[in-house]
Amino acid sequence: MDISLSQIKGIGPARLKSFEAAGIRTVRELVMFLPREYRDLTQTVPLCELKAGDVAAVRVRVAGEVMERRARRLLITKLYVTDGTETLPVLWYNQPWLKKQMTPGRELLLYGKAEHKQGYVTLVSPTVEAAQGLIPVYRNIPGIPPKALRQSVEAALKLCEGQWPDELPEALRRRYGLCERNFAMRNAHFPDSREALEAARRRIAFEELLLYQISLRLFRSAGRQGVQIDFDDARLEAFWDALPFAPTNAQRRVLGEVAADLRSERAMARMVQGDVGSGKTAIAFAAIALAHAGGWQSALMAPTEVLARQHFDAAQKLLAPMGIRVGLLVGSLTQKQHRLAHEAIAAGEWDCVIGTHALITEGVEYKKLGLVVTDEQHRFGVRQRTLLSEKGDAPNVLVMSATPIPRTLSLILYGDLDISIVDELPPGRTPVSTRIVPEAKRPGLYEFLRREVAKGRQAYFVCPLVEESEAVEALPAEAVYEDLRTGKLPELRIELVHGRMKSADKDAALERFRAGEADILVSTTVIEVGVNVPNATVMVIENAERFGLAQLHQLRGRVGRGTEESWCFLMAEPNPRLKYLCSTNDGFKIAQKDMELRGPGELFGTRQSGTLTAGIGALAGDAQMLKLTHDEARFLMADPEEPDARAVIVLAKERFADKLRDVAVN
Ligand code: ADP
Ligand code: MG
Repeated sequence: MDISLSQIKGIGPARLKSFEAAGIRTVRELVMFLPREYRDLTQTVPLCELKAGDVAAVRVRVAGEVMERRARRLLITKLYVTDGTETLPVLWYNQPWLKKQMTPGRELLLYGKAEHKQGYVTLVSPTVEAAQGLIPVYRNIPGIPPKALRQSVEAALKLCEGQWPDELPEALRRRYGLCERNFAMRNAHFPDSREALEAARRRIAFEELLLYQISLRLFRSAGRQGVQIDFDDARLEAFWDALPFAPTNAQRRVLGEVAADLRSERAMARMVQGDVGSGKTAIAFAAIALAHAGGWQSALMAPTEVLARQHFDAAQKLLAPMGIRVGLLVGSLTQKQHRLAHEAIAAGEWDCVIGTHALITEGVEYKKLGLVVTDEQHRFGVRQRTLLSEKGDAPNVLVMSATPIPRTLSLILYGDLDISIVDELPPGRTPVSTRIVPEAKRPGLYEFLRREVAKGRQAYFVCPLVEESEAVEALPAEAVYEDLRTGKLPELRIELVHGRMKSADKDAALERFRAGEADILVSTTVIEVGVNVPNATVMVIENAERFGLAQLHQLRGRVGRGTEESWCFLMAEPNPRLKYLCSTNDGFKIAQKDMELRGPGELFGTRQSGTLTAGIGALAGDAQMLKLTHDEARFLMADPEEPDARAVIVLAKERFADKLRDVAVN
């Protein structure tokens, strides 16, 4: 099964390359590449029953000659088909080869959508299918036509027929009524029936989710015995008193949970989730102050240098007056500064070091590390988190995340962490007003922006990422930047930030915006994470329809941080999804809705979904399956020496050891 794909007929050097680019090198990996969805061709519909809007399979015969017509750059192929109950037109666009194939009288199995065209129910761009059944539809692999992909998978399945060892212990399979693995793999690709498909998916999902959760637990138990930090309760109150504001009830409650973890002899592994602006930084700083009170060092790791500096400035203001010596360690320091930083950390002259990846990549030695805080966790993988906590003596780990995640999903993504939720915003915030702006109203938006800037405010423009292979009409950030600078708002000061820039340039541009030296910041989603510019009151999101709701909500959270009224403009034609976002500011509700609408894999963008082979998209939405595997993982891990548990743990290590590193969301 681990033989090269070149053994499969029809896969030559060119296709081999295309597969490789998609991460598929062996026959096994191809079989593990599961369909995204299935076309239901189990039943055909009589033409007389076909209504506009239906997606259906029809069994028909070509009635009459094929017609071809050009309209601008479109080649339209049209013909009539009949099944005896009715005769209807079929249209295809830009498929010149069809004309030859569609000879009168030919029998066809078509699958597609019916639409109203010029008063007739018309099948538009249907696929021509070979046989009835459930037809697998795979994620597109550039360079491999769908049909060839299907044939390759079929050949791969043949090659390893009957060879999948069933690695799940039999008792476990019995207990949950899971089908055999060979059956599961075959039916996941080419189901014999709906029931067979369901059984296959259940089996694959169960295995995948169980092993994943076990591997998370393995990480967690690695740090079970941890640094115990002792401090006086008065320190807690003293911290709150030193803040320039009164803490919210949620902040108090969550810090209480954190304080209990610090005191316990088990290493803390806790994630604090809270909407943007809910005041997570204060909680992190409080934990750092408590660790200091107990005589321990802390490290605070941020995903970007800008964020690290932002935290450093805040810590200078808040923590330094409490006698906590704070230092900064980021990549852009001079060599000498690096050396001095390392020395200060090793000698214990810094009580708290704030920085970026440099904290884990530079082999920093700590004097007495008791607490590790990572901010905006979704930029870090479990592996990185673990690396930092391997420094020293299983320190306490606190993870801050602004991505509200439905409870069920937290369970699988962060099964290694306890979770606290900051479910309250500080008082006095004016909620961000969100509006959908269709293209026709764009000029009005520019007028609005001019007025806001005249009042001294700043604005963000966010554009979706465009992958090179993608042929979309979306506006990349560079085009928007040029258009604003030279055409729409030439009198304003505009900065551009995108992923392909050097990080020093990126940070410099962000810094100019933060310092108020720019009116508008055009960017890809780089700014999604943590940037705090209270003076920015307008967020414009281009091609808003291309973002998930949770991500839009994240972006919106970048404004509304000051006392001024703030705005978020979604550049798109109105749709129910976007309207929902306009109607609420509750991040958890939005995350839940997003998961329902797009599946959990989409919640965090596409890179996430590659982690689990079975695509948690379809699986994690199944709350029952999650609960089942969660409970089973806990049961197995309670007695890891028991033979079945041992077998499953070995499997989990094999399957996820390398992958956990990539579990970073985004
Ligand atoms: P996030 O949870 O997104 O990291 P921050 O910690 O950056 O949020 O807090 C956002 C803003 O709210 C900061 O300017 C912070 O000073 C302020 N803030 C935090 N807690 C409170 C509070 N209890 N009352 C008033 N303002 C607060
Ligand atoms: Mg924050």
